[in-house]
Amino acid sequence: MEAYNGTYIGYCFLTEELAMDTLDELYFKMLKKAVDGELELAPEGMDPRLIDCLTLPDDGTVVRVKPCLCPPDERHCAEACEWDALKPGNEVGIAVDTEKCVGCQACIDACELDSLKAKKDIIPVVQELHQYDGPVYALVAPAIAGQFGADVTMGKMRSTLKALGFTGMLEVAAFADILTLKEALEFDKNINSEGDFQLTSCCCPMWIAMIKKLYHQLLPNVPGSVSPMIAGGRTVKALHPKAKTVFIGPCLAKKAEKNEPDIAGAIDYVLTYQELRDLLSVTDLKPADMPEDAQLHASTTGITYAYAGGVAAAVERTLEKLNPHRKIKLQTRKADGVPGCKAMINDILEGRREGNFFEGMGCIGGCVGGPRAIIPKEEGKKCVQTYADSSAFETPMENPYVIGILKELGFNTVEDFLTKSHLYDRQF
Ligand code: SF4
Ligand code: SF4
Repeated sequence: MEAYNGTYIGYCFLTEELAMDTLDELYFKMLKKAVDGELELAPEGMDPRLIDCLTLPDDGTVVRVKPCLCPPDERHCAEACEWDALKPGNEVGIAVDTEKCVGCQACIDACELDSLKAKKDIIPVVQELHQYDGPVYALVAPAIAGQFGADVTMGKMRSTLKALGFTGMLEVAAFADILTLKEALEFDKNINSEGDFQLTSCCCPMWIAMIKKLYHQLLPNVPGSVSPMIAGGRTVKALHPKAKTVFIGPCLAKKAEKNEPDIAGAIDYVLTYQELRDLLSVTDLKPADMPEDAQLHASTTGITYAYAGGVAAAVERTLEKLNPHRKIKLQTRKADGVPGCKAMINDILEGRREGNFFEGMGCIGGCVGGPRAIIPKEEGKKCVQTYADSSAFETPMENPYVIGILKELGFNTVEDFLTKSHLYDRQF
């Protein structure tokens, strides 16, 4: 193998004078320049391929920042990858197969040399905010409650994002509401005997990847629905065809999800809460000091999608309101974390179902425990609960914002929309 003296980012090589900068230093320098509206982000003399690595968004979820030094048979990253996405690279060790990578971050955690990093997409987003001549909407995942301070309300968050240049902020919890309705109606239609059961289709790309890639015999039990993120992006683009959409959440797997061929195009960029924090750190904006810009959006049960058990509870409560007298009641069972999800799926396959509605979340605790959350999951769950309890509506059935969106799309009732529109459908 060829000897290396420098630092690699993907396949990019830093010149000697710039090798003094760590990746983080370079990242913050370029981010600051992007915020100031400078067109030339790179320090002079830098390899243009390095700029591409930090400024092109669709380049996978994991990047290698140094050559691999581990012997080929001791690569902990490859051992940790359950998705067969890490392969021997041509000249610098391991290579990430972006088609197979689901963005679980297991390889990043397993690399003792800190050679693998999660991809950042904030710089291209800032460039869009400066240069794009159409609307750019931020879609925030419900786990955002409390991430930027316990006193940062959703209204203050909206003001902050508008001050950063976004046209508006939408809560993805409102689209979780629409998918709750879809899942409840699917259950009502399909689960009619003791032997029938349904797995949640929405929300977590890790759960869906597990079923698609490892347990595909269960796919007939998964309703064909997109996630709330994709539902939000598709809705924005249906109503504002020129709009760009930026999802902001605690999740790395969403970066991979947005590029899946059958749903690509709904979301233009995926940022994490940590990337948003980085952006705020190079501005003077303090979310806690921003004015309130509150809008009614999501119901209690849509907001609680942010923690484990939230999806199952949302569908259960909504089904009770849709059809309170149905003979077969919904019995939920849930799991969080990849090993827990696998154990539950194995129980289903071996006949120990103990339920007829199964929710799986890839992270322990659900999205509040996502890899790019800022605060501990217990604190995140408390903040989400406080915000959820403040909603004026318990379920999507009473949510006028959801009904309003559907009317804007040309549908007078939820049932009408779900049977006549394919906007939120997906074929697995
Ligand atoms: S992020 Fe997960 S799926 Fe992607 S390469 Fe790493 S371990 Fe494999
Ligand atoms: S549970 Fe984890 S992997 Fe799944 S959507 Fe939430 S943050 Fe992403």
